[in-house]
Amino acid sequence: MQIQEHYSLKKQNTFGIESSARYYVQVHSVEELKEILSDSKFKNLSKLILGGGSNILFTKNFEGLVIQNQLSGIELINEDQNNYFVKAAAGVVWHTFVQYCIEKNYAGLENLSLIPGCVGAAPMQNIGAYGVEMKDCFYSLEALNMQSLEVEIFNKEQCKFGYRESVFKNELKGKYIILSVTFQLNKKPNFQTQYGAIAKELEMMGVQDLSIAAISQAVINIRRSKLPDPSELGNAGSFFKNPEIDAQTYQHLLKSYPEIVAYSLENGNFKLAAGWLIEKAGWKGKRVNNCGVHTLQALVLVNYSNASGEEIYSLSEAIINDVFNKFGVHLQREVNIF
Ligand code: FAD
Ligand code: NAP
Repeated sequence: MQIQEHYSLKKQNTFGIESSARYYVQVHSVEELKEILSDSKFKNLSKLILGGGSNILFTKNFEGLVIQNQLSGIELINEDQNNYFVKAAAGVVWHTFVQYCIEKNYAGLENLSLIPGCVGAAPMQNIGAYGVEMKDCFYSLEALNMQSLEVEIFNKEQCKFGYRESVFKNELKGKYIILSVTFQLNKKPNFQTQYGAIAKELEMMGVQDLSIAAISQAVINIRRSKLPDPSELGNAGSFFKNPEIDAQTYQHLLKSYPEIVAYSLENGNFKLAAGWLIEKAGWKGKRVNNCGVHTLQALVLVNYSNASGEEIYSLSEAIINDVFNKFGVHLQREVNIF
């Protein structure tokens, strides 16, 4: 293992923020992870586990040890009448894994095509898109307890998945390193095409026989047309979560804003489209010095040229304040701030 000092993380985060790690190491196995974690030199330093850096905003240098996860491998571990059980190591690129499943005809993850990052980060915020969440195909995961250095298994219930949430983003934050995730994929696909522009895109593609490959391609096409490519324009996807409000607050807002974009939830609450709130607060397409709000998708903050993490954080603060002053709704950040 090569441990580097004062290592630039600019290429390791999709915002393209210049930030330096006091120590940086790439790990390729659980043994290497255990070795580095038990090294007395690093014992008392804070640790950051890094995947693809696509859900992170660095606002300062990281004065601890950054461990970049390179654990690799995909394995079919079991199957029954209805399902395949497939285990993927945490360092596998998420979209590579989705493509692998599509090639093998393992159904369930196709709507989650082209989400950046690694398999190990997917349970962190229970990644979701186009009406599907990772938890829908999740079976279990293996994680290394950073204190005891024991490998523990978490089932779905123990992960406490919610909307862009899990136990690892909350009470177990910073305590475990996810090593692998086992997915329960379907032999018979259950096509999800009702969300967003998927059905329209499939029609435009001239698809006659629906397949998981066609849905994946439709999602890829839509994402490429709407979302900025981090290799061209630094960003971390949606910076904010869609806020959930109760029915009374929704009815109150509806009176003042009949065109408000909201979706009813099973628990009786409503999910507001944060992008709509930000747009109506006047922020869509707005640039502030080196950063700004994307022109096509107001949920996405972008780094135009060498913005600092603090600049982007301040921009997010200004947006949160304006949305609160206009609608009385508090936006929460989805991106992890370091
Ligand atoms: P990182 O950014 O490296 O890390 C994210 C967090 O997880 C950090 O706190 C990190 O410490 C922790 N972490 C990472 N790996 C591990 C591990 N092995 N063990 C323990 N902790 C770990 N997200 C969605 O949900 N849906 C989308 O549709 C979506 N679209 C996006 C589009 C774009 C253009 C971009 C840039 C981002 C998008 N995202 C989306 C956000 C992001 O891609 C996901 O959250 C992704 O899962 C992050 O993976 P990563 O490997 O880059 O994680
Ligand atoms: P969109 O289709 O324009 O929809 C705008 C918002 O409305 C989305 O946030 C979505 O909520 C919600 N929505 C749309 N149709 C819905 C339905 N039928 N039922 C319930 N909610 C509905 O969104 P987009 O920006 O192009 O993104 C498409 C998908 O990719 C979304 O699911 C989005 O979450 C995901 N995405 C996520 C990120 C990220 O970084 N987290 C980045 C890009 C795209 P949800 O967000 O709850 O789905």
